[in-house]
Amino acid sequence: MQKISKKERSTAQKSFIFGYLKGVKTHPTAEIVYREVKKKLPTISQGTVYRVLNIFKNKGEIQAIDTKDNVHYDADISDHAHFICSECGNVFDVTSDCSECGILKNKRTKVGLINSFKINFYGECKQCRNK
Ligand SMILES: [Zn+2]
Ligand SMILES: [Zn+2]
Repeated sequence: MQKISKKERSTAQKSFIFGYLKGVKTHPTAEIVYREVKKKLPTISQGTVYRVLNIFKNKGEIQAIDTKDNVHYDADISDHAHFICSECGNVFDVTSDCSECGILKNKRTKVGLINSFKINFYGECKQCRNK
């Protein structure tokens, strides 16, 4: 077996974490990312996962969505709004629902032109409302 360097391993871990996040639409928390990634990379530490997520966030390669009691991560960095459920804490994309709104469609407000935006809607998701 070929011995891999520390640097190579860390690069592999990084791209695995990024790949995992790219592949899900669930906006997982760092804790969930760690739990899922650990299934494939059993030796990875929680600290590494948290650190890598922070690096990606600071580079603008992923975005963090702050909810009341957690931080969720999204590898989709295109402009889109999120719906945060106050019951289950899940974060959902609501892009198509609000892209027809005048401000978002024209990227323009009375104050000036919009380059990017972050919008959070808060409420109860369908699943929680049907409980
Ligand atoms: Zn919910
Ligand atoms: Zn999203």
